[in-house]
Parts: sequence; C-alpha cells; structure tokens
Amino acid sequence: MAALARELPRRRLRRGVPLAPFTTFRIGGPADLLVEVASAAELAAAVMAARRHGVPYFRLGLGANILVGDRGFRGLVIRNRAAGVELLPEPGGATAPAPPRRLRAESGAVVYPDLVDLAIGYGLSGLEHYAGIPSTVGGAIWQNLHFLSPAPRRERTMFIAEVTVEAELLDAAGERRSARPSPGAPSAIRRWMPSRASGRSSRRSPGSAPAG
Ligand SMILES: Cc1cc2nc3c(=O)[nH]c(=O)nc-3n(C[C@H](O)[C@H](O)[C@H](O)COP(=O)(O)OP(=O)(O)OC[C@H]3O[C@@H](n4cnc5c(N)ncnc54)[C@H](O)[C@@H]3O)c2cc1C
Repeated sequence: MAALARELPRRRLRRGVPLAPFTTFRIGGPADLLVEVASAAELAAAVMAARRHGVPYFRLGLGANILVGDRGFRGLVIRNRAAGVELLPEPGGATAPAPPRRLRAESGAVVYPDLVDLAIGYGLSGLEHYAGIPSTVGGAIWQNLHFLSPAPRRERTMFIAEVTVEAELLDAAGERRSARPSPGAPSAIRRWMPSRASGRSSRRSPGSAPAG
C-alpha cells in the first residue's frame, strides 16, 4: 500500500477518507486510500498502479449504485473526476465546419444534467432518455443505464447502449482498446467487455464513451 501511495499524485491522495459523502445513501466507512483523477490517462494510470502493486481498487463514479459498509474499503478508491467532453462532427464528413453530431465524454462526466443539457443545447438527441438519473458515463456503461422511454408513452426499456457508438476500455495489459455494442442486442452491453480486460479486484475497465 505504501509503495502504491508513492506512485499516486500526492496532492490528490488522501488516507482514511470516509466514503459516506461520496455515495447517494450517505453511508460507508473509510477507504485506506482515495485518489481523485482528472483525466482518462490518470484513471488508467491509477488502475494500472493498483494492479501492479496487487492492491484492491474500486472505481467510484457518483456513488449512485453502491452501498459501502461501516468498515469501509481496504485498498484504493479511485474517484473519477475525468469529465472532458468533445463535440464531434459526422464521422467521415468532409466539410468543415460541420455541426456536431456526437458527443465524446470521459468516463467521469456526469450524464444528467451536464451531458443531457449539453446535447440538447446542440440539438443532439439520445441522452434525454436518461434525464433525472444520477450517473457518470463510466457508471452508465458499466451497468447499461436504462429507463422506460421514449416519452410520453414510455413503452419499452431504452438502454444507454442504444445511443452509444463506442467505448474505450483499459485491458489487463494496460492498453486502451475500443469496444462497440452488439447491434440488435443493446441489453448485452457486458459482452463488449473483452475478457482480457479483467483486473484483480474488478472485471470492468475505465474508459470514455461517445454517445449521440
Ligand atoms: C434515485 C436513483 C434513481 C436511479 N434510477 C435509475 C434508472 O432509472 N435506471 C438505471 O439504470 N439506474 C438507475 N439508478 C442507478 C444508478 O443511477 C446507475 O447505476 C448509475 O449508472 C450509477 O452511476 P455512478 O456513476 O453513480 O456509478 P457508481 O455507483 O459510482 O458505481 C457503480 C459501479 O460502476 C463501476 N464504475 C463506475 N465508473 C466506472 C468506470 N469508469 N469504469 C469501470 N467501472 C466503473 C463502479 O466500480 C461500481 O461497480 C438510480 C439510482 C438512484 C440513486
């Protein structure tokens, strides 16, 4: 643990941090170590460092789908604040400047209200189905965020995979690789995850996901 701590950014590393303030239910004891990361590269580096040192790690988004016990977490919690967003033109479009057609967001970007409002502001549809649900992009991809939609009839479950073009994943070897949802099988988002992406303490990997 001490060797791992020496590799993490000192100014954003804290010890014995209570996790309750970082979860929706406001419960949870302390993490041995908690580091805040501000980019996909920092997120990947923290995951790889934890794996190298054999320290259990947990990637934390908004904490809307986790419960933490009073004893907290023995290992490293990586609080994901990587929230960069880009607006992308139509892929392959030759004319510039072209209006944006897609969003590319780092995995710590907040889906609602940040990305939903941004997308609507540029006339992009897709993310509005998830208005009101607390989630980062990483949390949304991890569990395939879903809701009864489209309004007003709300007759079926719409999965975030349906409006996701591609996600970048960190594999076990530390390479960032692209994965795409299976066409026609949006509820099978976990099949995107390459088996080599498994880490010591968690099977999913961080990444960014364009949606539009
Ligand atoms: C009031 C309320 C309403 C909700 N309504 C809905 C709903 O309608 N539909 C729905 O689908 N869900 C709903 N949820 C659940 C929750 O919003 C989603 O599960 C959301 O995607 C969690 O995102 P998060 O960023 O908070 O993830 P967290 O709770 O922080 O983490 C959840 C899991 O994702 C993993 N994870 C997070 N980021 C990454 C990453 N970058 N890479 C790999 N793994 C990662 C974590 O390690 C953890 O295992 C609701 C929750 C609340 C509190």
